[in-house]
Amino acid sequence: MRCYRENLVGVFGDPVDENPTGAILQAGFDALKLNYRFITVKVSDGCLEDAMRAMRAMNFMGIGVTMPHKQTVLKYLDEVSPDAAIMGAVNTVYWKKGKLFGENVDGKGFMMSLNEGSFDVSGKKAVVLGAGGAARAIAVELALAGVSSIAIVNIEEKQGMSLADAINTNTSAKADFVLWNTAYMVPEDTEILVNATSVGFANEKDMPNIDYDTLKSTMTVCDVIPNRVTTRFLESAKEKGCLTFNGLGMLVNQATLCFKLWTGDDAPRDVMEKALKKEFGIKE
Ligand code: NDP
Repeated sequence: MRCYRENLVGVFGDPVDENPTGAILQAGFDALKLNYRFITVKVSDGCLEDAMRAMRAMNFMGIGVTMPHKQTVLKYLDEVSPDAAIMGAVNTVYWKKGKLFGENVDGKGFMMSLNEGSFDVSGKKAVVLGAGGAARAIAVELALAGVSSIAIVNIEEKQGMSLADAINTNTSAKADFVLWNTAYMVPEDTEILVNATSVGFANEKDMPNIDYDTLKSTMTVCDVIPNRVTTRFLESAKEKGCLTFNGLGMLVNQATLCFKLWTGDDAPRDVMEKALKKEFGIKE
């Protein structure tokens, strides 16, 4: 029997069953013949401190962090990136000069997709639907990249207000919270609209509750739903002539960022995108 000396990386979460990140990253490690093994670890709520000690003891090269640990993990890190500190959430942990460093690549993967499409957000007016983890990361990155204003549209007030406050306190963008209790009318001067809710993930027929007649061809419309090349939300936007970005690209980009942070090597993006599509049953 052959024994491998492997560098462990992994994802700590609860539940982690449907997390596709492992398959994408392992495909990347294998393609570059790197001695890395991605493992998925269920860390129950309340057990993160022990898991983080184990991470150090077992020489993990890095971890991805999913719910419910994205906020709690900050307590066990030596340093946190400025962006992740504003978000108050970390989803990637890696070693930097012997210290455990926390980063959040959710929003960075999103911004990479926009950059790949040569879409510059600076000075633009944004609307973000949702105020959960993905929305928080995207809204903060948009604000740090120089959008002039962001409307945070959420069905629940506390989370929405807290996100708007975080942006107003820490960035030069002006954020407003909008309570979402009826079909949202997208303001005419909106330049970038992001669905960062989970609507459309479990059921592909579901669409965010907006007035689709208010979409204009001048708007760029993005969806975070990661398991489809397109969504009904994006299709409706395309019908109005909008430029669109899907969540698949955001997810692949996030994985490539983790790859670089953990291994120091540039990720084989094409291989990883192919692995993600296979994982989600998407035909090439
Ligand atoms: P959270 O549970 O943290 O947030 C979900 C958000 O959706 C909350 O703001 C919630 O509002 C809102 N929401 C839920 N149902 C409705 C509804 N019927 N109408 C309006 N708003 C609703 O999840 P995440 O932020 O982690 O994930 C959100 C989505 O983003 C998921 O589909 C996930 O798969 C995707 N995602 C994609 C990534 C990518 O790389 N493409 C990366 C990370 C996530 P409230 O809190 O008020 O209930």
